[in-house]
Amino acid sequence: MRQRSMLIPTLREIPAEAEAASHKLMIRGGFIRPLAAGIYTYLPIGWRVLRKIEHIIREEMDRAGAQELLMPAMQPAELWKQSERYGVYGPELIRLHDRNQREFALGPTHEEVVTALIRDTVSSYRSLPMTVYQIQTKFRDERRPRFGLLRGREFMMKDAYSFAIDWESLDSTYQSMYETYHRIFTRCGLHFRAVEADAGSIGGEGETHEFMALSDIGEDTVVACPSCGYAANLEKAVALQQKQESASPSSNVLCEKFATPGIKTIEQLVHALGIKAEAIIKTLVYIADGQPIAIAIRGDHEVNELKMMHWLRAESLELADEQTIQQAVGGPAGFIGPIGLPIKLLVDHSAAQITAGTAGANTTDYHVRNVVPGRDFSIEHVGDFRNVKEGESCPQCSDRLKFYRGIEVGHVFKLGTKYSDKLKAETADAAGQQTKLIMGCYGIGVSRLLSAIVEQYHDEQGIRWPASVAPFQVHLIPVSIQDETQIHLAETLYQKLINLGIEVLMDDREERPGVKFKDADLIGIPIRLVIGKKSNEGIVEYKSRTSSESVEMTVAEAIEHILKPFAHE
Ligand code: ATP
Ligand code: MG
Repeated sequence: MRQRSMLIPTLREIPAEAEAASHKLMIRGGFIRPLAAGIYTYLPIGWRVLRKIEHIIREEMDRAGAQELLMPAMQPAELWKQSERYGVYGPELIRLHDRNQREFALGPTHEEVVTALIRDTVSSYRSLPMTVYQIQTKFRDERRPRFGLLRGREFMMKDAYSFAIDWESLDSTYQSMYETYHRIFTRCGLHFRAVEADAGSIGGEGETHEFMALSDIGEDTVVACPSCGYAANLEKAVALQQKQESASPSSNVLCEKFATPGIKTIEQLVHALGIKAEAIIKTLVYIADGQPIAIAIRGDHEVNELKMMHWLRAESLELADEQTIQQAVGGPAGFIGPIGLPIKLLVDHSAAQITAGTAGANTTDYHVRNVVPGRDFSIEHVGDFRNVKEGESCPQCSDRLKFYRGIEVGHVFKLGTKYSDKLKAETADAAGQQTKLIMGCYGIGVSRLLSAIVEQYHDEQGIRWPASVAPFQVHLIPVSIQDETQIHLAETLYQKLINLGIEVLMDDREERPGVKFKDADLIGIPIRLVIGKKSNEGIVEYKSRTSSESVEMTVAEAIEHILKPFAHE
């Protein structure tokens, strides 16, 4: 295509609102344009990349036997009420009314619609297992839309749903989707890891993996073992119980209250008392489904709220505010401790193993020392309630765990009968018995993937698209469009490449060479061909976006180079 007439509004300045490299570069490169927070237009070259990604997804989903369809974005609230998610989904669900005041929602996901669809259209086990998918705009009124396409409020998702009559069949579809996702992300050039993930307290039966693009900007922490291949989201990663040393040496020393005026935080305690955070029993108060609950963990650890929620079977959990703490415990925030609490107390394994700890005294400006778990407070409800720390032992082997940041680009999930129960989706089995459909769901953040790729493929000058998703393969740049020889050679080459099936963008703009080269680096097409002074000898300059050197070659040699990656297809 000819750049002169294309809508590629490149910018020299860095957009003020953009923090992530991918966000800055995609706006500066003329790939996307914001309309409102988390809502973007895909400009022509951004759309081309998106279509490339979609094409890879379609090929691989079709290869796995999934069928593409398209469901409505506008969904009756009634369906969401039947699945009991209308309330639970909260403010993320965009709600609207039609002219007759009937309630609707804009689909953030499609479990409800697809379950009702298959319920009403599949009447026999003979058509099962079946997997359907769509690539569609989703709507979520995210609390913090940010980083451009990484967290949008209107975004593109590939969502697939599988239906089966038995669990073995779900297992095999799940495995097939897991492998399909590996192929999709590999073809997109992404560096990624599949990790065990948390199914959520309302997440149905269970097994779930997330596909994480490795990147420092990622919001998730990937916990991985370099030896045995164990990999999990930090939310899910199991904390190994450290072996308890000999029996408590100080259990015959009684605990003792002492003054700690104004000392509220772990850091302050460590500093003021000269003790280690590992010897402090930190106690926090939460509200779980409206009820106060306390948790004691070691001072150097973080509470894992999802682990708490699972244990409690709670649907909501949040830290209590100061007033609630005062009311529930009778003591002030900053001085809460596990002794004599009037509410239920969860105790993390590592806190239960402290032999003589320091803890809050539930009295302003006081702590207690020589606290012995099990003697001074109950350790009836002990469990794994914390995040693992980098360098701890892997739960599967003895090596040390490493942490990485990850962007969740895909998610595979065994739903079981969560939705078929609620929406009464049944079919007749081989014995003629009505049986609930067993479901799986499989999402890919298509637009998020675009950003994730840019996060992994860029330098100071701009994007460096992997060839498989690049908007064009070749950027043809005649240095001066006033020069007849250059233009002639550029036009000939342009036609030749197009006839060979190569996607070419020709910079036929009347711009200075410096501007053209800067834009070319920003846009990031894998191969640049510059037609300059030596065009009268039939010589062009070939440069790959990933190399700093350009090489002079004849037109024939350049074409040969360009075709090389396609030689095996
Ligand atoms: P997150 O934890 O990032 O909010 P999620 O668990 O809500 O993701 P799913 O409901 O599993 O996401 O959606 C499937 C996929 O859609 C995700 O794996 C992710 O790649 C993508 N996705 C989810 N929310 C957004 C968003 N706001 N913007 C862009 N992509 C998104
Ligand atoms: Mg989300």
